[in-house]
Amino acid sequence: MKTRNQLQVLALTGLMGLAACTTSLTINTGAEPAKSATADDAVHWGYEGAGGPQNWAALADANYLCAAGIMQSPIDLSEANALGKVAIKHNYAPVQASIEDNGHTIQANFAAGLGVKIDARKFKLLQVHFHTPSEHVMAGSTYPIGAHFVHATDAGELLVLGILFTEGEANPQLATILDAVIAGDTSAQHTLDPTKMIPSDLSLYRYMGSLTTPPCSEGVNWHVVKTPVSASTAQIAKFTKIMGGNARPVQPLNGRLLLQPK
Ligand SMILES: [Zn+2]
Repeated sequence: MKTRNQLQVLALTGLMGLAACTTSLTINTGAEPAKSATADDAVHWGYEGAGGPQNWAALADANYLCAAGIMQSPIDLSEANALGKVAIKHNYAPVQASIEDNGHTIQANFAAGLGVKIDARKFKLLQVHFHTPSEHVMAGSTYPIGAHFVHATDAGELLVLGILFTEGEANPQLATILDAVIAGDTSAQHTLDPTKMIPSDLSLYRYMGSLTTPPCSEGVNWHVVKTPVSASTAQIAKFTKIMGGNARPVQPLNGRLLLQPK
C-alpha cells in the first residue's frame, strides 16, 4: 500500500514522462519530506506496438487506471455540457528553464516563481511539454501541436493548462525550445516567456481528468484554452520529427461535467 505522497510522486513521475525509464526522481511537495520513486517497469511505454496506449494498463500494476479509469484524458472538447466562465490569473513572465527530450516528449522545466490562481487556489508552474498532434480534440479534429503547462499545489494536486497550436506564424519561444533540444545540453539554462506561448484570451474549457501518460492517475484539474496560438509549418514538422506521434487517443467523457466558456 502506497502513501498518498508516494502516489503523487508517481503521478508526477508519469506526467513528466519518466515512469518507465530507469530514472529516480525526488520531488518535495512541501507537504512532507521528499520521497524517492524509482520506476521499474519492464516494458517501455510508448504510442505504438506492444507499449502502445491500448497496452499501458498491462505494462505495470500501477497503470491500472489507464484501462479501468472513468475520468481519463484527453477528451473531445465539443462534448461540453455546461457553460461557465473560469477566472484565471497568472504571473507568467520570462523565466529560466532547462530543456530536454526525455524520450516521450520535449519538455521545459521552469525555475520556481511562476504559477496560476484559479478559484482562489494557487498552483505553481513546474514544466511545459508538448504532444503532436494535440491530445484534446474538437469534434474529432486534432490540432498539430498541444502544449501542457503542468502546475501543482504544495500538496501535490495537479492542474494542467492546455494550449492548442494551429499552423501559421512561427512562435519564437518554440524556436528557442527546438534549438535547445537540437543542441542537446539539458543542463543549459534558457530564458523562456510563457506569456508568449498562450493567447491573450484565456477563456477555458474545464473538467476533471487524468494524466495522459502512464500511470494515468486521476484528479488532474484540466483547463484547456479555447483560443489557439500558432506555430509555423517548419516548427510543427520539427516537433513531429523529434517526438513522433505522442498523443493518447481520446477517452470517453462518462458523464463528467465539461464546462465550455460563455
Ligand atoms: Zn501532456
